[in-house]
Amino acid sequence: MSKKHYLLYLALPTILLMQNCIKEKENVIPEVSKVAEHWGYEHPESWGGISGNCAGVVQSPIDINTSATAKDANLPALQFSYSSFPISIVDNGHTIQVNTNTYAAANTVSYKDKTYQLKQFHFHALSEHTINGSHAPMEMHLVHAADDGALLVVGLMIKEGTANSMIERVWNSIPNEENKEEQRTVTINVKEVLPAMQGYYNYIGSLTTPPCAMGLNWFVMKEPLFLSAAQISDFMRLYNHNYRPVQPLNNRTIHEKP
Ligand SMILES: [Zn+2]
Repeated sequence: MSKKHYLLYLALPTILLMQNCIKEKENVIPEVSKVAEHWGYEHPESWGGISGNCAGVVQSPIDINTSATAKDANLPALQFSYSSFPISIVDNGHTIQVNTNTYAAANTVSYKDKTYQLKQFHFHALSEHTINGSHAPMEMHLVHAADDGALLVVGLMIKEGTANSMIERVWNSIPNEENKEEQRTVTINVKEVLPAMQGYYNYIGSLTTPPCAMGLNWFVMKEPLFLSAAQISDFMRLYNHNYRPVQPLNNRTIHEKP
């Protein structure tokens, strides 16, 4: 089985964020492997017992109350530079995930003079973030990492509309077997799912799955990604409750590029 890849999916952000800690504390890796085997969406309130981060004060997802955001039209735009790559895909038991692997360096986003590589994208149903208390049917997460380990995640709220051809190729590539990453010849370019408008909500949060590593720079795009009703139900046949409940905002500010 591709447990190695699965563990890597969970461990990568922690490793990237905590490179120095790992050098000093060799118990980090065994802790992550325990996390990988023992969590589910039935009792997310218990995740704090799996990883202390999950009970932290800077967690994701959150509800975005649009009447309380800090609006600033001069916030910089995300500069996406994506190119085509062949699909490598895994059903890891928590979601459907596409990994860029060796194509990460050719798929980047830049923000405030820092460049992040796209490592993987995956999906949740319902959406994890809510807007003014409302879920979208699904949400797509594009997980990027900089060379220094900083993470930048772009969230796309998915709503029902016309079919998306890139997502069609992804759905057609889903493996029959769990935890087995499979390589396809069909290619995708992730710019096919990016919105035309640059507006976003931005805040500092966490991974939404254990180990809930904190300090992630979150961007939830204001314009949704549209999928057909059939595409949404195709995903929901596999996963219809792989979302973490919204977490307290505490003292954080949500910045909004209108
Ligand atoms: Zn996610």
